[in-house]
Amino acid sequence: MDKNTRICIIGGGPAGLSAGMYLEKKGYENYTILERLDRVGGKCWSPHFNGRRYEMGAIMGAPSYYAVHDVEEFCGITHDGPQLSRKYKDQKGHIIEPFDPKKNPLKIPRLLKMKKQVKKFGELLETKYKGYDLNGHRGVAEGRYEGCSQQNADREPVSGENPNLKDLALPFSEFCRINGVELVQDIWVGPFTSFGYGYFDEIPAAYVLKYLDFQTCMNFIKINLWTWKEGTQYIWEQLNEHLKNPARLNSAIEKVERKDGKVYVTVNGEVEEYDKIIVTAPLYIPDKRADGQVGMVDYFDTREDERELFSKIDYERYDVMAIETTKKHHPEISYYVFDNMKRERIGHLMVYYRRWKDSVDQVITTYALRKHKDMPEVPYDVCKTRVLKDLWTMKNPAKKLVNEWSVYYFPHVFSEDYAAGWYDKVEGMQGKYDTFYAGEIMSFGDMDETAEYSRELVERFF
Ligand SMILES: Cc1cc2nc3c(=O)[nH]c(=O)nc-3n(C[C@H](O)[C@H](O)[C@H](O)COP(=O)(O)OP(=O)(O)OC[C@H]3O[C@@H](n4cnc5c(N)ncnc54)[C@H](O)[C@@H]3O)c2cc1C
Repeated sequence: MDKNTRICIIGGGPAGLSAGMYLEKKGYENYTILERLDRVGGKCWSPHFNGRRYEMGAIMGAPSYYAVHDVEEFCGITHDGPQLSRKYKDQKGHIIEPFDPKKNPLKIPRLLKMKKQVKKFGELLETKYKGYDLNGHRGVAEGRYEGCSQQNADREPVSGENPNLKDLALPFSEFCRINGVELVQDIWVGPFTSFGYGYFDEIPAAYVLKYLDFQTCMNFIKINLWTWKEGTQYIWEQLNEHLKNPARLNSAIEKVERKDGKVYVTVNGEVEEYDKIIVTAPLYIPDKRADGQVGMVDYFDTREDERELFSKIDYERYDVMAIETTKKHHPEISYYVFDNMKRERIGHLMVYYRRWKDSVDQVITTYALRKHKDMPEVPYDVCKTRVLKDLWTMKNPAKKLVNEWSVYYFPHVFSEDYAAGWYDKVEGMQGKYDTFYAGEIMSFGDMDETAEYSRELVERFF
């Protein structure tokens, strides 16, 4: 492609900003990033409180976050945040140690079985499911893998046939069952469901394992994780500052028309002309959201194939609150409540996060999911009341609500559409209509998978 191609990027989150970085690295400098809000970072949102920053969105990375590491290097920053730590409580607020055999003598047989299954799972992923951990979903539903290896920072291109990969379209619980490793769910659920990515009986295994590949899941267990002192938003603020063309904030896109090989974007009342457009903002939002966000199908001259495919996308209703407690009620550490990660306990507090060990005048953030595809959605206010009540049960009641957010989270498709080749159909449309699709739906809803997808998109098409 001509290096002077005029490229419009919609969205100034990790996907959009890293698309800008990788384009720039490849010699494309004629790009414009349009961001609807008055800040960059998207779901990496780190507001200030009492002189420090807390996390309303993304919290952590892992050593396998190679694309995020590219960004760190580009900006000269590093992951310098507070060490994460955690303990566990049951739904009644009692401290438990679910994985310690000494504390759970009756559970020893189950724990031993789980340990064996985790080992077996690691082996199966390396052999039977070779190619499972590449970024994106190209070929999976057809039993192929195609992309870049995520084993190390070199990210060598790899491809091959593996019919077993078709199993990844199954819900994760079913995938575990057919492989005789049901108990690994006890481990994977912590960093998956509590982080808002849905329940294992509804979410295709492909998503679970592209995010929590074996190596990354082990990093979670060992708490070998990264955080940033100024918050994850800082990574993207820094990237934005280092780009030749920083994002244009407060960009209200009214219309996008694609005709005669050009893309016309009406933004803040003016029509701008581009050659190509990369969409990292939501493609489809099935309901009317209180924050006014809409999907691209609502402001693009959407074509039939785009509308047909994108209307299959659903997303998680994931709620975050930042609360203040009294000194006496401040939790001594972050807590996971496994009981509340079951679908029967939908809309309850799953995790609460204490970020700063050295002070009790900072906020605690709480996390709850209120949607399962086969259950009625728990209304926002009901969920909020439940979580505040749960904090009482946990003996860490809130004194004051400081911030709250019900976020458009983890767009995905379900097993039937995954198996029917949703991803290959959308991948086949990349570049058609001078439009490229990136962001969370194309890979997975975490900082690194989205940035990595942008890297590969730039490699493949620009
Ligand atoms: C509570 C929470 C916890 C999380 N924890 C982690 C974690 O620990 N680790 C991790 O790696 N990830 C985590 N994530 C996920 C991670 O933040 C996201 O996956 C990542 O930010 C996705 O990047 P993105 O650029 O694809 O989308 P987004 O971050 O959503 O960015 C999209 C951008 O597009 C903008 N936009 C939307 N519509 C338009 C429009 N019409 N015009 C212009 N701009 C538009 C939005 O304002 C936004 O800035 C968490 C997220 C949340 C909410």
